[in-house]
Amino acid sequence: MMIAYLDQQLRLGHGAEATPCLGGGDPGPELVAASQDFGGVIRALPAVVLRPGSAEDVAAAIRMALRSDHLTIAARGNGHSVAGQALAPGGIVLDMRSMGRIELVWSDDGQPCADVGGGVLWGELLEWGVRVHGMAPRSWTDYLGLTVGGTLSNAGISGQAFRHGPQIANVAELEVVTGDAERVVCSPSHRSDLFFAALGGLGQFGIITRARIPLYRAPPLVRWIRVVYRRVEEYVADAEWLVKGGVFDYVEGFAFVNSGDDPANGWESVPIGPGSVFEPDLIPPGSGPLLYCLELALHHDLNEDVEKKVEEMLRQLKYIKGLKFTMEVSYVEFLSRVNLSESESRANGSWHAPHPWLNILISASNIVDFDHNVLQPILKDGIGGPMLIYPLLKSKWDPRMSVVLPDSEVFYLVALLRCNQPYPVGPPAEELIAQNREILNLCESNGYDHKLYLPHYESQTVWADHFGRTWARFVDRKARYDSRAILAPGQLIFSRAHPPFSS
Ligand SMILES: Cc1cc2nc3c(=O)[nH]c(=O)nc-3n(C[C@H](O)[C@H](O)[C@H](O)COP(=O)(O)OP(=O)(O)OC[C@H]3O[C@@H](n4cnc5c(N)ncnc54)[C@H](O)[C@@H]3O)c2cc1C
Repeated sequence: MMIAYLDQQLRLGHGAEATPCLGGGDPGPELVAASQDFGGVIRALPAVVLRPGSAEDVAAAIRMALRSDHLTIAARGNGHSVAGQALAPGGIVLDMRSMGRIELVWSDDGQPCADVGGGVLWGELLEWGVRVHGMAPRSWTDYLGLTVGGTLSNAGISGQAFRHGPQIANVAELEVVTGDAERVVCSPSHRSDLFFAALGGLGQFGIITRARIPLYRAPPLVRWIRVVYRRVEEYVADAEWLVKGGVFDYVEGFAFVNSGDDPANGWESVPIGPGSVFEPDLIPPGSGPLLYCLELALHHDLNEDVEKKVEEMLRQLKYIKGLKFTMEVSYVEFLSRVNLSESESRANGSWHAPHPWLNILISASNIVDFDHNVLQPILKDGIGGPMLIYPLLKSKWDPRMSVVLPDSEVFYLVALLRCNQPYPVGPPAEELIAQNREILNLCESNGYDHKLYLPHYESQTVWADHFGRTWARFVDRKARYDSRAILAPGQLIFSRAHPPFSS
């Protein structure tokens, strides 16, 4: 009904329900919200925002765009992209939060799974799974205010990925509506090309309306640990040793500023647990401008001797003895640990400031060099937020998925999660964007084996370079599933085509 009305309005060029935009005038709060994202750097007004209730609604919206010679469609998850990836300039934004159903199902081989709408937040799935069924997915993101469809279009990485793979490696089935308005249920064994295309596919091949995600028993408790390193060489050696064979269920880590003057970037950013204090006298004299904090977690049952297991592992690590912080939390508390930072950031105004974030995947063979030639000289004063650095294993990622990775088996996620106050209290966004460019230029000039995660490029030539060997497959899939290139225009990979399709 809504779609029919909109269709008529769009054909008449009159705008649509809650959308006076086509006819000009004040766009209204919904269109304004859909014209921006968490990055706060790029803005573009859509013509209309729709809230689909079903895959059929999504298909109807796509058919409507296909009938025009210019309309594009972007699915918007929670709008947490940082470079306009979920925007549709002058086009249709599908607010996927309206597709929020969660249902317990069992696969043919008896595996419990959650069937979740593409707009469900990971935090909602966690709440539902643990509280109602005592079960949960096993691969997460650090922050849970992201949608299932949004992270499955990228990768979904956190400290569990070294063991279970990213979120895109933990999906049993997808329901996708392609850019040609075909509703397809696909899996590794049925219509597998579309299934793998959509995973990490940057929204280019179809809109994920439902995902089937395997569930596992949620552990009752988590021992959460942080230990501090003086030298990057020791930090990466221990991190890699742990991801290749340690007992921990979660391995992450970050660089921080070796200073007490800076609460956001310095020593104070490390302690966890009530009353724990960072003791600077324990830092060996002559340490550099940055220190490194390995963050670990072990799932356990109430009556398990967790102390012994943890100590046995920690004994073998080369962190600065004494600079160890531990805390016992529930599984939900552990996975929701970033909520506190979000509240603080909302309170101090930095949540709504621009976020020119940079996420790089970089080969383990280059990570120490990267630290010495890039991190230490350029970012020694911090970035106003976390500088994550932790290893992942390529063998946990299926090469049929669309996402691209560095060549080596062990590679690191380096995530520069800038969280500054708005200018003029904080630095101007342009300065931070220029710094990102400088970092990427150094990666190029030093010949580091690297790829951008959550990539953003402005020309197809650079995208082709990004995809490298898999570019031909990406283009072929685009022609097969979104032949007029109407989907996810904010990624700036393909231009809307009136038939015939051209790359
Ligand atoms: C505070 C914060 C913390 C983060 N932490 C992590 C982290 O720990 N690990 C990690 O891997 N990433 C992390 N991210 C990045 C996050 O994975 C991406 O921003 C991702 O885009 C998810 O956000 P979203 O659901 O809001 O999707 P959006 O930003 O709304 O969309 C992202 C892209 O996917 C497309 N899309 C959205 N929904 C669908 C759908 N249903 N079907 C097809 N295409 C769709 C959009 O068109 C767009 O191109 C974080 C981001 C923020 C802001």
